[in-house]
Amino acid sequence: MSENGGNVGERSQQRMSGSELTRPDAEPIEVQAHHLLCAVCVRGGCEDPPCGKETLQPLLDAMWEYPYVALKITADLDLNRAHYFDVYEGRGENELPENFEQRAADHVDRRKDLEVCRLLGIAPNTVLPAFWAYRILFERAPTVEGICTSTMPGSADWPQCPHAGAGYFEKVAQAQNLNPEEQVALGEPANQHLLCILCTADKQEPLVEDNLVELRKRMEQEPDIPVTVTEGCCMVCDCCNVYDPDEHICYPVHIKNQLRDLNILEKLDLAPGATLPARELYARIYERIGSLAEVCGWGDGSNTAPFWAPCGGWQGDQLESAREAGLISGGKADS
Ligand code: SF4
Ligand code: SF4
Ligand code: SF4
Repeated sequence: MSENGGNVGERSQQRMSGSELTRPDAEPIEVQAHHLLCAVCVRGGCEDPPCGKETLQPLLDAMWEYPYVALKITADLDLNRAHYFDVYEGRGENELPENFEQRAADHVDRRKDLEVCRLLGIAPNTVLPAFWAYRILFERAPTVEGICTSTMPGSADWPQCPHAGAGYFEKVAQAQNLNPEEQVALGEPANQHLLCILCTADKQEPLVEDNLVELRKRMEQEPDIPVTVTEGCCMVCDCCNVYDPDEHICYPVHIKNQLRDLNILEKLDLAPGATLPARELYARIYERIGSLAEVCGWGDGSNTAPFWAPCGGWQGDQLESAREAGLISGGKADS
């Protein structure tokens, strides 16, 4: 949400920094799935990952430049189609795929790649923002156990990585200071802000993580102040620790906020960018949105992927309380 015509800080001056990586038409960076882990090992101090540090450096550089960079996460799924005919039936006149023998011999890494895809819940060649790939990975694979280790550690065919027990990966993965619960505590209560302002209606002091309280108080004091409703991040986000002002993006909720904002705007029958007085806006909310569950819990509380998870507060009754009190709207709504 942004205030129209008032003090909008520096928001109107800001433009996305637009590096090559952050352009909307930027090609995703292709990364073999288990190299996501090897990059972490390098960050944790490993000097000689099996794939070589130079293989990982472009990935590390890109993520350093833009944590939300798009990654195409690969695994050699197609090899098995040629493999069967080659091993078992003879291939006759058929050509083998490019680099077949080298690819076929890479079965240990192929297993790791597919295991990482399984943990991420994706098919090979899926594109994910790096932020989400790692967020999911660290939650589901706090160690390299079962990925880089082998149930046959002494086997010539199934060796395990010599770094699997060194703790490089674990040092980084388990030191994440933004686990999902903390993220909910820090970020989600400030999410999709028209309603979040109601979720923090009992707060009188400004919150360190966002500007929700400041905006609510301003609208309570001046209920006729014009408010412009927007999609995505807004002036609430300025002081948030997960807001990237250069790219105008909120890493943890960028994806689901977009849909929730549009769902709210649809219910309010407003187009993105519409401007109306705060009191009218909230009267419309009280009239047209029955509960937080409708938008913050997708109606049924479904959780189809980590980046689509309902907000932790979706079962709360703050909207009903605000409607009852006529918060900002200046009177009880006929709900
Ligand atoms: S332990 Fe696994 S992630 Fe780490 S360097 Fe070895 S193969 Fe890569
Ligand atoms: S950046 Fe904005 S949308 Fe994201 S968690 Fe912070 S306040 Fe919420
Ligand atoms: S339940 Fe909805 S309105 Fe409340 S904090 Fe979460 S996202 Fe915001």
